[in-house]
Amino acid sequence: MQHQCETENCKNTATLQCPVCLKMGIQGSYFCGQDCFKSSWKGHKVIHLLAKGKEDKNVYNPWPYYTFTGKLRPFPQSEKRPVPERIPRPDYADHKEGRSKSEESLRGNTTIKILDDEEKEGMRVACRLGREVLDEAARVCDVGVTTDEIDRIVHEACIERECYPSPLNYYNFPKSCCTSVNEVICHGIPDMRPLEDGDLCNVDVTVYHRGFHGDLNETFFVGNVKEQHKKLVQVTHEALMKAIAIVKPGERYREIGNVIQKHVHAHGFSVVKSYCGHGIHRLFHTAPNVPHYAKNNAVGVMKPGHCFTIEPMISEGSWRDVSWPDDWTAVTADGLFSAQFEQTLLVTETGCDILTLRRNSNGQPHFMDKL
Ligand SMILES: [Zn+2]
Ligand SMILES: [Zn+2]
Repeated sequence: MQHQCETENCKNTATLQCPVCLKMGIQGSYFCGQDCFKSSWKGHKVIHLLAKGKEDKNVYNPWPYYTFTGKLRPFPQSEKRPVPERIPRPDYADHKEGRSKSEESLRGNTTIKILDDEEKEGMRVACRLGREVLDEAARVCDVGVTTDEIDRIVHEACIERECYPSPLNYYNFPKSCCTSVNEVICHGIPDMRPLEDGDLCNVDVTVYHRGFHGDLNETFFVGNVKEQHKKLVQVTHEALMKAIAIVKPGERYREIGNVIQKHVHAHGFSVVKSYCGHGIHRLFHTAPNVPHYAKNNAVGVMKPGHCFTIEPMISEGSWRDVSWPDDWTAVTADGLFSAQFEQTLLVTETGCDILTLRRNSNGQPHFMDKL
């Protein structure tokens, strides 16, 4: 990830971080060199005071000059959690910028891999373990629990199952899962914010086991959720299931978005366009690209042995997204809530297998237990 120098009118790329900010856990304070750092110091140090003074009142703000779209705020993050050496790791796990050379070598290539029997079995196992990990997260997701605690549970549940948590260090993502609360569309970073009554919390888990990634997510209710937000979550899940229902050999990938958008618009909600489903197997993200909105130009026709995710992100209001200065957290442009569900699918001769389906409660997602 490239950063720009914080000094006014300096557009240089920057790798030097303010040591005081680093110590205080304030993110995003980059400078191109000592000269810029010194010349900016007088104005910059105000951020330290702001962060310090507000910490007691629990309004820690690492980006004092950023205008948030909604009510959610970032909280400090815990230290990076280590994964034992014995667990096999994907190529990006130890790369300085978290780059995946195996994925980058295929970027722009629209050829979809057909899995052989051994690879299909590898995917079945990884996806089953991913499901077990998400179920562990669902058990603890409640009022007063921090998303960092959910991340710890996910991290440890992965290690217990000989899995590497795929998000960890992927393009420098700092945690082992994504936790996307309320107006966060996706890629929320687990932090010290305790979940509040009425929150929606999506947990996105991907595990890497014996060379294969299994990816799924669900949106959970935290305490008593407003009817409108329950409706949003329900419609999002229905949209995913309707899309899965058309998956079979011969179907075009671009049809998935038509099915999802039709259902979502009928209920007055909107489809996020910036983030898509993806091929997944030995690579975390690869061909095909699977948009969730109508009239898209997705390339490809489904064939037995294709493996990919569908993961619609559905918003209450605007479909537009913006990113926080951490360059990960995607939020709605109007600050209204967003929900998401994701499954990993394997195309069979007659339809598809949902590899990440819940193994009990008739495969129903966890929010339905609370309806
Ligand atoms: Zn995912
Ligand atoms: Zn995914």
